[in-house]
Amino acid sequence: MKIVHVASELFPYIKTGGLADAVGALSAAFADNGHEVSVFIPGYRAVLEHKDAAAAERRLRLKIEMGDQYLSGDVRVFSPRANLKVYLICREEFFDRRSPYGNGERDYEDNADRFIFFCKGVVEMLRIGDLQADIVHCHDWQAAVLPVLLRDAERRHRLTLALKTIFTIHNIAFQGLFPAKVFARTNLPDELYHIDGLEYYSQVNLLKGGILFSDRVTTVSPRYAREIQTPEFGCGLDGVVQTRVDDIVGLLNGVDSAVWNPAADALLPARYSAVNLSGKQVCRTELLKRAGFATDFKGPIFGMVCRLTEQKGVDFVLENRDFFLKENVRLVVLGSGDKRMEDELRELAAVVPHQVFLCAKLDEEMSHLIEAGSDFFVMPSVFEPCGLNQMYSQVYGTLPIVSRVGGLVDTVVDADERPAAGTGLMCDPSTVSLRDALQRALVLFADKPRYAAVQQRAMAKDFSWKIAAAAYEQMYQESL
Ligand code: ADP
Repeated sequence: MKIVHVASELFPYIKTGGLADAVGALSAAFADNGHEVSVFIPGYRAVLEHKDAAAAERRLRLKIEMGDQYLSGDVRVFSPRANLKVYLICREEFFDRRSPYGNGERDYEDNADRFIFFCKGVVEMLRIGDLQADIVHCHDWQAAVLPVLLRDAERRHRLTLALKTIFTIHNIAFQGLFPAKVFARTNLPDELYHIDGLEYYSQVNLLKGGILFSDRVTTVSPRYAREIQTPEFGCGLDGVVQTRVDDIVGLLNGVDSAVWNPAADALLPARYSAVNLSGKQVCRTELLKRAGFATDFKGPIFGMVCRLTEQKGVDFVLENRDFFLKENVRLVVLGSGDKRMEDELRELAAVVPHQVFLCAKLDEEMSHLIEAGSDFFVMPSVFEPCGLNQMYSQVYGTLPIVSRVGGLVDTVVDADERPAAGTGLMCDPSTVSLRDALQRALVLFADKPRYAAVQQRAMAKDFSWKIAAAAYEQMYQESL
């Protein structure tokens, strides 16, 4: 098949979260299976500075109609592996910036223009480059307007650009909601600014367009596919999702074993596997050292790696600060984002610097060290479309403590509720319930044989992308 992915992130070129991992692993899996894969991403500064992109060739000069203006840009392409091409939609004014979506305080004011331009650039490349895609697979709000733009271009030019379009929701909380005047920038027919189109309470909602105008909708776990049809998790789009109930499917993300495998992880000070865990001890000692803790500590280490946002349940952890103050445990947090959360974590670390450590930046190496060196991974999300870290931690023999939402339910089994199948601990997304799980973690950690049994089960789980890629492949084939 000729498969085109369109997304605003792609590991290892640009990443702010799980989207990059998912698109990177899926596209590589398809390429390795012999499909012809093209991935379109914006030509961000970080991407253009990556060594792989140094050899990118300019393929097309773009002149994109945006309302009553024409904006120029270009399309560059490079091929990082067999069967895989990465196309960059470039325009300095839009993408030559330090970060993809905002300046840290606020989203960029021209995000609507940036991503409408991006999608139009992709359509133009599909048309002029004659890519003859079987499947065009768009991800999240940044690529959500593409399915409707593509069908509109086909109508205008009387040709076929793609047999089927697929839209994947990685997180329904981010919708690309903009003032009504933005609609003019799409140059779509006026009738599409309508309740059955991109209009949403007198604004433009790009994600809504992706849900309505693609042939199939997927999301990143079976549980989340059901949750987003409810007001509690639908973020106002549950009614829209319900209109596609026959076309929506939840396919669990996988773990990229080329990146996340304790037996071959070059970012760790030592490697290990389920049969020989001695390398995990080396990682533990290194983690304690990096956090500035005494390295002879024998109690449980709790790790966290996440964007500091309400979604990730950081407040439940903060509201349990007395647990981390009083108990003989260690807490290592890697994450940045919300300033208040960052400040509160920093304050906590300042009170007990020998027990709590915050590393407030993006640090790929440290994220691997935390996964490997901790005993428990804390992830009490309020909602979680799929979540990757709870899978990474199981692969690394670090027991996840997660809330019972979304993909966390599909990937973790509570060891107290189901002693013969448990791979972690589960709680409700609340301070009290997390506290209960943290206490249970202490009990579990103290019972070495039981901890070891749960750890072995966690490490034996298969989260590989092969399963996910096969499910996507079947879905592509069914929809063609
Ligand atoms: P989300 O996509 O909602 O942020 P996921 O669990 O799906 O959450 O994926 C998060 C990804 O981002 C994981 O690969 C995680 O290791 C990584 N990550 C999050 N914060 C950091 C950080 N500060 N440094 C390095 N990696 C991080």
